[in-house]
Amino acid sequence: MAKQICSTCGVAAACLAIAVLNGEPDGIWGGYTTPERQALLWDARCLSRDVSDTVRQLERGQRIRVRPLDCLPVLHALSQRGWSTERVGEALRLSPQSVLRARERARAATDCLTALHNADRTAPGTANTGAVKALE
Ligand code: SF4
Repeated sequence: MAKQICSTCGVAAACLAIAVLNGEPDGIWGGYTTPERQALLWDARCLSRDVSDTVRQLERGQRIRVRPLDCLPVLHALSQRGWSTERVGEALRLSPQSVLRARERARAATDCLTALHNADRTAPGTANTGAVKALE
């Protein structure tokens, strides 16, 4: 029921970002339960990893094994470069379904980071300042 209400809320993105930032221990915020927010935070941190060397190697067609921690940011980077689901899956040895699920996770984490950036911009000098740096 709470998730349903959040799904139509106009401030869901900001609500979620603030809950993630504050480490809210209970309840549903922005449509996310506590374990879902923890997973989102983990994904957001993963996305800030520098995987440019790995991405370059894959773009050159090298067959390399991508470390598990780098999978999400590499997948995100390749998707942003226009790689198809099948091509990403082949490079990372993932099924198309896994690629689609990971893309959705990366999108949610990116949205959360964007909301935090916006919170930083709109509330300079408040507790939110530097929030994105704390996550990255
Ligand atoms: S918890 Fe947040 S997203 Fe959900 S309805 Fe309340 S303000 Fe909106």
